[in-house]
Amino acid sequence: MNPPAIAFEPFTDEHQAFRRVVRDFAEKELAPHAREWDEKGEFPRELFRRFGEMGFLGIRHDTAWGGSGLDYWYVVAYAEELVRSRNGGPGTGMLVQGEMATPILGDLGTDEQKREFLAPALRGEKIAALAISEADAGSDVAAIRTRSRRDGDDLVISGSKTWISNGSRADFLTMAVRTGEDGYGGISLVTFPTDVPGFQVSRKLEKVGNLSSDTAVLYFDDCRIPARYLLGEENQGFGYIMTGFQGERLVAAVTAVAGAQLLIDEALRYGQERKAFGRPIGTFQAWRHRFAEHMSRLEAARWLTYRACDLFARDQVALREISMAKLVACDLAQEIAYDVMQFHGGMGYVMESDVARAWRDLRLLPIAGGTSEIMKEIVSRSAGM
Ligand SMILES: Cc1cc2nc3c(=O)[nH]c(=O)nc-3n(C[C@H](O)[C@H](O)[C@H](O)COP(=O)(O)OP(=O)(O)OC[C@H]3O[C@@H](n4cnc5c(N)ncnc54)[C@H](O)[C@@H]3O)c2cc1C
Repeated sequence: MNPPAIAFEPFTDEHQAFRRVVRDFAEKELAPHAREWDEKGEFPRELFRRFGEMGFLGIRHDTAWGGSGLDYWYVVAYAEELVRSRNGGPGTGMLVQGEMATPILGDLGTDEQKREFLAPALRGEKIAALAISEADAGSDVAAIRTRSRRDGDDLVISGSKTWISNGSRADFLTMAVRTGEDGYGGISLVTFPTDVPGFQVSRKLEKVGNLSSDTAVLYFDDCRIPARYLLGEENQGFGYIMTGFQGERLVAAVTAVAGAQLLIDEALRYGQERKAFGRPIGTFQAWRHRFAEHMSRLEAARWLTYRACDLFARDQVALREISMAKLVACDLAQEIAYDVMQFHGGMGYVMESDVARAWRDLRLLPIAGGTSEIMKEIVSRSAGM
């Protein structure tokens, strides 16, 4: 008797056609500016509109609000191809916009919130940020202190947020605030327009990598917003944040695998051109074996990530698989980036090289959106440990 067939090809011809559009866009409109945008410390604001026009900001969002209503594998193909921009900044900014700050709004927002914030964000006319982390509350989300108190029909918000991607340019924030008791039971989400009095961008943070992405410290001094900007139920924010993290962690894993693959592809090419001791460096057994290990482990990480994507795409519980995928893929990308830089010798260490930029930018992945240690906490707890 034949064993049951395992045929799992996630990408249809339509997904692959969409992939080619994103690849072409990333290579022609983004990659040529990779170095310039890093040096300036930002990419142009107009890029949000351009991504909106291309339909990239609303891939899996409801068509009623200007999204494309496509399945999750289109998002996977999109995130995989964005790494070809050779600069982590635009990818971070756009994935925050389309995949992190707005899906919660799509799921929980009222029609009024969707009309005012979601629809213009999907068109790239308004910039969105996800504001959860605070100076004393990163991994420990339940420790946030930015407070919101009710005053008639308003919410009055005071506190501070830090490390907020898109933060200095955001037109609105999907923000976590404390509305109740200490701990996870007293957190709510709000949609916060940044043009209200009392809001201030304290500063833009200078970082090791992702130099063109905008990462800011934000300050709120008795900011008054209408209570109808509350997202979902009051004091249920922690659960909403944890649900939202799943998509964020999955795109981090996808980006890690794709970024590492791009580096390996480049190394294989470089290994044929660059000679030492009269031989192409790619023919040295030390390196051939090292890349054989990396390619094998990357293939394993890719299929673990696709397994998590498949569960997520089918709305199945995937906390364990997504945490495993983020852990494995983001940590492995560090090892691969390190070795690919080593393989490029001095050329790998100069600021202008794509390899050096990828090494700097990929370093963020085991930190943001839940560190590798937090992923290990989730995986070990899911095994009852
Ligand atoms: C460039 C950048 C962009 C970001 N963008 C955003 C954004 O858009 N929105 C947003 O809200 N946040 C954002 N963040 C914040 C990010 O999510 C946090 O930095 C991250 O969750 C880690 O929190 P932390 O920095 O407070 O580290 P900490 O929580 O202080 O952790 C420090 C160390 O302790 C370890 N640790 C903590 N708890 C445990 C534990 N229980 N067991 C073992 N080890 C533990 C951590 O793994 C880490 O190694 C961004 C961060 C960066 C650097």
